[in-house]
Amino acid sequence: MEHVIIIGAGCAGYTAAIYTARANLTPLLLTGTQPGGQLTTTTEVENFPGFPGGIMGPELMMNMQQQAEKFGTRVAWASVESIERQADGSFKLNCGSDTYETRTLIVATGAAPRHLGLPNEKELIGHGLTSCATCDGAFYRDVPVAVIGGGDSACEEASFLTRFASKVYLIHRRDELRASKIMADRALANPKIEPVWNSTVAEYLTDDAGEMRAAKLKNLVTGEESELEVKCVFVAIGHVPNSAFLGDLVDKDENGYILQNPGRTATKTPGLFAAGDVADHYYRQAITAAGQGCAAALEAERYLSDHE
Ligand code: NAP
Repeated sequence: MEHVIIIGAGCAGYTAAIYTARANLTPLLLTGTQPGGQLTTTTEVENFPGFPGGIMGPELMMNMQQQAEKFGTRVAWASVESIERQADGSFKLNCGSDTYETRTLIVATGAAPRHLGLPNEKELIGHGLTSCATCDGAFYRDVPVAVIGGGDSACEEASFLTRFASKVYLIHRRDELRASKIMADRALANPKIEPVWNSTVAEYLTDDAGEMRAAKLKNLVTGEESELEVKCVFVAIGHVPNSAFLGDLVDKDENGYILQNPGRTATKTPGLFAAGDVADHYYRQAITAAGQGCAAALEAERYLSDHE
């Protein structure tokens, strides 16, 4: 029986591992299918404190893993399919042919940005296709870019991108934004933002180097197709938190984000803590996820000493 298992190998998971390892709890961290989390899909990270010259996302995650292992974290590749709470309050994790048992559990499985499902998306990530304006916006100075989506995220990203880009096209599938009035008004009042209504991207077009060249648009009312020359497309059509495997062990909001007890990372199930983007649709930053990982580790440690 483990003291603590951490599910997820992003900023929240590795920070929880560093803290629980330094508390002599010899954590086991299960990586899931995307070790390193969302930062492995970005290029340079310029806003993580302590790296004034920036650091590449994958390198930052490798550093975090090394730091966690240095203090005794064991890292295993496993994808958790389901979890049972046992009569004594411990947890049994089913990972295909393997099972693990633990007294406390920190869920840091993150959220996956939703994409359109177009054929060359995977290859274009980091080459003109991204879901994070805060991460990548500064790379696209004085060039036209596009944002897809009509919600608060899309409006926020579009407004943020006007600091850098020469022009920001806001491509939305309807003729009315879903975003809150204040965010929508702010975006539409910005002279650098041009809405492209009733439209969707049918194809991402690349140049000879494999970088984004243009978005092929389809007008959903007229059926007309056109090309929009942009150097980067920011997809802001929502995120999907990786929380489905938890079943009824946690309460979730209508979008699947785990609900934590007020001001804590604890959830409705004693001994089960949630940290990072799987429980946070609001901040969604590497540093806030790391902070939550730390908080979850401290709460797990206190839970274990209270239940000794
Ligand atoms: P969202 O509110 O769910 O909006 C997603 C947008 O993407 C919608 O406009 C939707 O179009 C569009 N969309 C979804 N699937 C699509 C597809 N397959 N093709 C084209 N368009 C598609 O998501 P969000 O903007 O990420 O916001 C999530 C939550 O976080 C919301 O509660 C939001 O208020 C909150 N948030 C708050 C702030 C803030 O207050 N500062 C900032 C960001 C997010 P339709 O409108 O046609 O459905």
